[in-house]
Amino acid sequence: MTTDAPWRLDETTLGDIAARSGGLHDPGFDVAVIPFGCTEPHNLHLPYGTDTIEAMEIGDRMCHAAWRAGARVALLPAIPYGTTTNQMGVRLTLNLMPTTLLAIVRDLVASLVRHDIRKIVLLNSHGGNDLKWILRELVDGPDPTAKLFLIDWFRACRDAAEEIFEKPDDHAGEMETSILLATRPELVARFADGRLTADAGATRPTRFEAVEQGWVQITRPWHLLTTNTGAGDPHAATPEKGERFLEVLEDRYGRFLAELADSELDEMFPFED
Ligand SMILES: [Zn+2]
Repeated sequence: MTTDAPWRLDETTLGDIAARSGGLHDPGFDVAVIPFGCTEPHNLHLPYGTDTIEAMEIGDRMCHAAWRAGARVALLPAIPYGTTTNQMGVRLTLNLMPTTLLAIVRDLVASLVRHDIRKIVLLNSHGGNDLKWILRELVDGPDPTAKLFLIDWFRACRDAAEEIFEKPDDHAGEMETSILLATRPELVARFADGRLTADAGATRPTRFEAVEQGWVQITRPWHLLTTNTGAGDPHAATPEKGERFLEVLEDRYGRFLAELADSELDEMFPFED
């Protein structure tokens, strides 16, 4: 084996897969996880690749956990761009339209089915990537035998985030900063005295009560909403909080992946008989 992370396809060789598979037509994996990130600014202290780094880190942990439980789960390379039309007013934001994301997912699903992998998990780390409609769009195609799952961990595990963080943030705040401090501290920008180079992540309210209350939704123009793209105060972030939260995600999603790998794609899937 070339790699000590055999769940990572980008570090795996054809020889590795041939050695552990049950024959020429065994793809060597029962589940594929596709991480989705973004390339956009995160206040003044986190890198443009923050969401992509988070996607790979969380994917790595959950697949490792599933692997330890005996599941053959593949972590595919991350898609480093996402839908970020609302941040285009800030320099070097790079956007993929939602329909472009659909085309990417459709092509990857077709490729995976061609190789006999039908249990496919979209692991999304970016709020602007709206992927649920893609699951609806692809129910019957390119191959109705493919079963798609979506993880928006930052929304779905809000209960754990609220326990760990003073204010689970919207963008580049305490939660994301804590995750980066736990995983890639060298990429978190600080002054000589250790303080983050970030501003307070304050956001400007709109003129409509209904929007503020959430009765009406909009896509917010980020260059007007924020001062330096941060939405949420990052200054209470610590690596310990980040690690605690990552452990929750690893545990919850590692168990799910192991169950999914083990599950038969029969007529009743995904329901109990
Ligand atoms: Zn982010």
